Amino acid sequence: MMLGYLLGRAGIETVVLEKHPDFFRDFRGDTVHPSTLQVMDELGLIDGFLKLPHQQLQKMDGQFGGRSVRIADLGRTGAKYPFIAFMPQWDFLNFLREAGKRFPPLKVMMQADATDLIWSGDRVAGVIADTPEGPVRIQADLTIGCDGRHSTVRQCAGLKVEEIGAPMDVLWFRAGRRPDEIENVFARLEPGKMMVTFDRGTYWQCAYVIAKGQYDAVKARGLDAFQSDVVATAPMLRSGIADVKSWDDVKLLTVAINRMKRWTRPGLLCIGDAAHAMSPVGGVGVNLAVQDAVATANLLAAKLAKGCPDENELDAVRRRREFPMRMTQAMQIVVQNNIISVALEPGDRPLRVPLFARIVNAVPWLQGLTARFLAIGVRSEHVRSPAASTASSRA
Ligand SMILES: Cc1cc2nc3c(=O)[nH]c(=O)nc-3n(C[C@H](O)[C@H](O)[C@H](O)COP(=O)(O)OP(=O)(O)OC[C@H]3O[C@@H](n4cnc5c(N)ncnc54)[C@H](O)[C@@H]3O)c2cc1C
Repeated sequence: MMLGYLLGRAGIETVVLEKHPDFFRDFRGDTVHPSTLQVMDELGLIDGFLKLPHQQLQKMDGQFGGRSVRIADLGRTGAKYPFIAFMPQWDFLNFLREAGKRFPPLKVMMQADATDLIWSGDRVAGVIADTPEGPVRIQADLTIGCDGRHSTVRQCAGLKVEEIGAPMDVLWFRAGRRPDEIENVFARLEPGKMMVTFDRGTYWQCAYVIAKGQYDAVKARGLDAFQSDVVATAPMLRSGIADVKSWDDVKLLTVAINRMKRWTRPGLLCIGDAAHAMSPVGGVGVNLAVQDAVATANLLAAKLAKGCPDENELDAVRRRREFPMRMTQAMQIVVQNNIISVALEPGDRPLRVPLFARIVNAVPWLQGLTARFLAIGVRSEHVRSPAASTASSRA
């Protein structure tokens, strides 16, 4: 949606396909980081955006075996918007979609499920999509796979991913929140348990982390046992957990980390999770996908006005974005292998605060460094793509 907005703004005839009828799904990640807020600012969208209901988080605390430590302080980043905005992603996407309506070259097709690619020799020349009106063929100079971790576009193009793996999955549910419940604590780790809570105003959005493949075992112990485990990890959910009335209220989200070596074919580029699936660690995946979109528009929008860039020019996006992606995945892998896996090991041994977290907690300026890495990231992107209205190409 962000890339569609940027290309529409640059006057490039662009079609965004979304297979669902709306953006109302709960599994997307709701953290809008300062890097994305900065992009919204550069696009002149920030005032309207921040009027949407959201919560702001500046200090990130983690709780290890009952001891709270400060992991990051966004107030020390020097960012123009030094907070994470927690906003349901459907609000963010609907906002961009509405804002994009002012660009005639941008068309958003909902309920358009890309099922195959159109080929012209060895060149990708568009997509075939299922719509309620039947299949449609959309010819394009450039096709961009932004279709997430299970990318159909990537699969149809025969592009391979290198699986790195993640030791956990996530159970995602809502629990009621009283207005007086205020918590800075973001992640809680207890022996054998881990949980993250997001303040969504009237409820807590909860992510209960389990060892990979253990969902059936968790279910087999029964809903009461699950609810008790949740309350033992986050006592503030004692009354709110009653909102989880059956397993239908709990969604299993599988976590993956992977990346493609090659992001392109002639006429095709993949970005975001389609090119590099991010785990939830750090809540950075959405923001990395937005940064990919900004970089893609910066590097390709002007060229697209003259037709499809050649594959080497398309590959400039990978050359620009691979390093930040690898650095971020490296952080996620270190956290998942050294902190999350250790916490999820069964047993009752006391959970110690990791050395790294103790050092960051003790040295406040380090909390600015960790915050900068999470909130702004490596090699942050700024909007440099043109804001023109001449359209001569189709993406
Ligand atoms: C459990 C979990 C929690 C997470 N929490 C966070 C978090 O809090 N913060 C954060 O920043 N990141 C989080 N992430 C990571 C984040 O979800 C991803 O990195 C991010 O969503 C990637 O954005 P994307 O636009 O590339 O893909 P997606 O967000 O997956 O978007 C892909 C879109 O393409 C559509 N689509 C798919 N296939 C087709 C098709 N064939 N035709 C048409 N449309 C199609 C989908 O419906 C979807 O709208 C989390 C990940 C997991 C697994």
